[in-house]
Amino acid sequence: MTSFQDFGLADAITRALREENYHTPTPIQAQTIPLALSGRDVVGIAQTGTGKTAAFALPILHRLLERRAKMAPKTCRVLVLSPTRELSGQILDSFNAYGRHLGVTSTLAIGGVPMGRQVRALMGGVEILVATPGRLLDLVQSNALRLGQVEFLVLDEADRMLDMGFINDIRKIVAKLPAKRQTLFFSATMPKDIAELASQMLHDPARVAVTPVSSTAERITQRIIQVDHSAKATHLAELLTQEQVERALVFTRTKHGADKVVKSLERAGIVANAIHGNKSQNHRERVLAAFRSGEIRTLVATDIAARGIDVDGISHVVNFDLPNVPETYVHRIGRTARAGAEGTAISLIAGAEEMGYLRDIERLIRIALPREDHRTPGHKDKTAPAPSQQSHRAGRPHAARGNESVQAPKGPRRRRRSGANNGAHQINRQEPRRSSHGGGKAEGIQGVAFLHREDRPNNHPNRSQRPR
Ligand code: AMP
Repeated sequence: MTSFQDFGLADAITRALREENYHTPTPIQAQTIPLALSGRDVVGIAQTGTGKTAAFALPILHRLLERRAKMAPKTCRVLVLSPTRELSGQILDSFNAYGRHLGVTSTLAIGGVPMGRQVRALMGGVEILVATPGRLLDLVQSNALRLGQVEFLVLDEADRMLDMGFINDIRKIVAKLPAKRQTLFFSATMPKDIAELASQMLHDPARVAVTPVSSTAERITQRIIQVDHSAKATHLAELLTQEQVERALVFTRTKHGADKVVKSLERAGIVANAIHGNKSQNHRERVLAAFRSGEIRTLVATDIAARGIDVDGISHVVNFDLPNVPETYVHRIGRTARAGAEGTAISLIAGAEEMGYLRDIERLIRIALPREDHRTPGHKDKTAPAPSQQSHRAGRPHAARGNESVQAPKGPRRRRRSGANNGAHQINRQEPRRSSHGGGKAEGIQGVAFLHREDRPNNHPNRSQRPR
């Protein structure tokens, strides 16, 4: 599936997708959308960042359009349950964005805010309701909402809902729903209790999965360079001039960051261009063609913009910022060393927060990456952004302490290191993949895409608060 047009979605939906700059369906979208459009129940194993919201929202919007009628008071046609207020808000935003030309009605029912407005919003009925389970039950119990008209049920992040103790609320809600409905059930993991819940709630479900990446490709030399935050741009310019760079793809976490990097490279006399969500499709195509032809050797991109870039001969991937989701690192560096070529991935690391991200990455790939320390001795990095308030991975202390020694990350299997080269780490063997779920493309890390809500570096799923 190469484009959203191929699914047969309503034109008003594909138009909205073009406006959102979605060009290629992600693997979870490619698998889920046709099944959901055919009316099947679906169990999806997918994490946040894989594009799963559109995977369920698009077919539901399309099917909503097939039969439109005036809503009965205090009812909804689509019920989406999500564990947190934050995620619920994002899901509603997505429905509204993809449905912007459809005139669908939608609202949010989340805890922690007075109920009055939500009661009023439901008075005339809404087509789409996104809710946290506790508040939804409160609304039902106070007769502000009836669930007998629900045609589509989505459970998003089911495993997290169970972790948060919502199981009884969910059972109570499901008991009030019509038996004849379509249910789409998404979870990042599928332990026994979640599988059981799914089997009770779904009717003959189709299963789809995208497996998280956990291995780094062969033939990629990985270098970690510790720098002062203020010197990142200078180091990047030096690397690009000193190394034998055929084509370099430089990643930043934000769109703004990408533009800043381009400007600093231009000041150093290096021709570079950026692609990210704020650039037009025309710009993207022009820049990609120039990158492909070698006219531009350095492309700066955010993770989302870099999706779908299929350019061979990328000799270097540079992480100007480390991603806060470790799988993204694996995905990024997989842009080099394609088609049997060798490649180098260089990460510029400054400050405690990025050091924490690095440790997460090492844990994922089960390799301790040697650090090259290029920091100014005694330089206190005043420009480094302060570590965020919460840990970037739940349940573990966050702070990293400056120049830590290289330790093998904890993990069940440790990989032997092959010869270090120039302080770099070369991987010669492919780690066995965790690919028990089937689906997705288990071979090669290009098959799995993790997306991030751009410019929202704090968007880790564990940052949300408990609703109610
Ligand atoms: P999700 O996993 O649903 O939270 O999506 C993560 C991010 O990817 C969101 O910012 C979406 O807007 C974006 N996204 C989802 N699908 C696509 C796509 N096909 N192309 C580009 N961006 C996408």
